[in-house]
Amino acid sequence: MRSAVYPGSFDPITNGHLEIIRRGLNLFDEVIVAVALNVRKSSALFTIEERIEHINGLFENEPVTVKTFDTLLVDFAAAEGACAILRGIRGPEDVAYEVQMVHMNRQLQPNVETVLIPAPTHTQFISSSLVKEVAKFGGDISPFVPEHIAAEVSARLNSSD
Ligand code: ADP
Repeated sequence: MRSAVYPGSFDPITNGHLEIIRRGLNLFDEVIVAVALNVRKSSALFTIEERIEHINGLFENEPVTVKTFDTLLVDFAAAEGACAILRGIRGPEDVAYEVQMVHMNRQLQPNVETVLIPAPTHTQFISSSLVKEVAKFGGDISPFVPEHIAAEVSARLNSSD
């Protein structure tokens, strides 16, 4: 059984994340979506529990497991028995950052490989933070996030005005 860990904040999960998970499922027997607990992102829109529920709801009956972690990512991956870390690449900025992380993580845990998956063109420009920004000003985010999550994002941002 070959598992890959896909870490992130997923606040909220977007169609860009879904593309990476789908592609990960083509390569591995299982994808463990790892929601980071200790990310210093100023104001989270959804709680960790809500994000877990969102992701679980999208992958019923598929080999996707959702977990949280607050340790070094490579230690979490090793403890889960995963052979790889998945990361998505949207553009050159992601490459620069991710390649540095690849080398650091390889030093820390040589047995866990990092697999960088380029985003398909139609989701390359999507990020959780941009989606929230658009929704905050009343823009239509339905092309960028799964339908029911789009509605939740918009409702939450409008109710907090
Ligand atoms: P982080 O805080 O680690 O950036 P995110 O939830 O924003 O967490 O992203 C998690 C992973 O998903 C990262 O590897 C990021 O590059 C990737 N990702 C995010 N959005 C997209 C997208 N639209 N296409 C491809 N990969 C993406």
